[in-house]
Amino acid sequence: MEKIIVFGHKSPDTDSICSSLVMADLQTKLRGEEVIPYRLGELSEETKYVLKYFEIEEPKFIEKIEEGQQVILVDHNEFTQSVDGIENAKIDTVVDHHRINNFTTSEPLFYYAQPVGCTSTLLYELYKLNNIEIAPKMAGLMLSAIISDTLLLKSPTTTEKDKKAVEELAKIANVDINTYGLDMLKAGTNLDKYTVDELIHLDAKKMEKEDIKYVIAQVNTVSIPDVLKRKEKIEQEINKEILAKGLSLFVFVITDIINSNSEAIVLGDRCDAISKTYEIKDNIAIMPGVVSRKKQILPLIEKNI
Ligand code: MN
Ligand code: MN
Repeated sequence: MEKIIVFGHKSPDTDSICSSLVMADLQTKLRGEEVIPYRLGELSEETKYVLKYFEIEEPKFIEKIEEGQQVILVDHNEFTQSVDGIENAKIDTVVDHHRINNFTTSEPLFYYAQPVGCTSTLLYELYKLNNIEIAPKMAGLMLSAIISDTLLLKSPTTTEKDKKAVEELAKIANVDINTYGLDMLKAGTNLDKYTVDELIHLDAKKMEKEDIKYVIAQVNTVSIPDVLKRKEKIEQEINKEILAKGLSLFVFVITDIINSNSEAIVLGDRCDAISKTYEIKDNIAIMPGVVSRKKQILPLIEKNI
């Protein structure tokens, strides 16, 4: 593969898919040669809704890359969340809004990061900085990514830049933010169609701190009790995963997108990383006002573990 390729993280969310498609568009225009978007996993129902709405084809799947492949990373930088073979790739560009961890390159690169609510907010900025016109479909993708990552601008990760971008992008894409946004988020909450195995991998991020490996998975719903109907089966599957992957902790966060609360199933030897802050009863931690893995759950675990 000689062409430069762009992708987001494994277990792709709407930001990872939309930002890959948008970044490919932007980079193709900037470079004058085709940059190809890829995905590292199956699309969520939410993301499928977005691509169908704006009539855009899903990116092709890629599992592993060849040594020396030129790549652009969006919405992640940690190698544990990236494509297989990333250690030997030539990382050309990164656009991201996460912490930087386990990341090194052998050559200089373009690295654009800011603590905003969504990668697409930064892509919106890059179009502006480069004076490139935003096509309505690309605006729709960026808008969807921001709505998804910020839960309609309600997550504590939301910044003024995200709000401004959403306002502008909605005009270009010609959609009503609240109507479209809620329909899109709701499309992602139909969890009954997933097997328990699919459910715990749907949006799972693997983290490493020294030699402690843990996973924070998250699903969105309009009814937490509805998801917990399968609690026992979910726990069995998580315990299998802990054994198979040598994990110290698995936190399965179920987020109520209407009321902006979460409950988490917490399993593993290092449950103390959660229980120091939230009481765990029957393997469940109730987390009022918590919706953000990045800003609320991850820092808590990193502090406690
Ligand atoms: Mn993401
Ligand atoms: Mn993101």
